[in-house]
Amino acid sequence: MPFSLIPHRVLAQYTQVTPALLKKLGVRLLLCDLDYTLAPKSVSRPDGALHAWLEELRAAGVTVMILSNNRSSRRVETFCRDLGIRYVGHAGKPSRRGYREAMAQAGIPPEATAMLGDKLLTDVLGARRSGILALMVEPLGGPVGVWNHVLHLLQRPCKAISKRRCMTL
Ligand SMILES: [Mg+2]
Repeated sequence: MPFSLIPHRVLAQYTQVTPALLKKLGVRLLLCDLDYTLAPKSVSRPDGALHAWLEELRAAGVTVMILSNNRSSRRVETFCRDLGIRYVGHAGKPSRRGYREAMAQAGIPPEATAMLGDKLLTDVLGARRSGILALMVEPLGGPVGVWNHVLHLLQRPCKAISKRRCMTL
């Protein structure tokens, strides 16, 4: 079982995941974390920028789904209903179960799938264990609370390694 905490790409935020980048990476299914990836946790409904981004990906033939560990099914449900996309809730990342379920629902194999998220120990680790691309973003709206600030600092070295590798590709 592969074990790596190094994301394949680190981006400032989700809007940098463009149809052109996904085409280059061969990605047809994009699994997205919700909190701090597509919206700060304090935001309860998707905004216009998120709708527009999703529309661009849809038009390019990319399937987008949410893969969330959020304890509130209502929050994930509301977001996905507004966006018109499917989701796997209580995903238990970094377990491979949710990743497999999402890929099975979409009918798209691991080679054409990527995970987009802000946390190494859940989003990135689960993606690497599942054999899919791990795209990492900085926490949207910035880290909130002491624990998230500490986590953010601890994640820095792995992100730095990823950025160095990308520059030498
Ligand atoms: Mg998150």
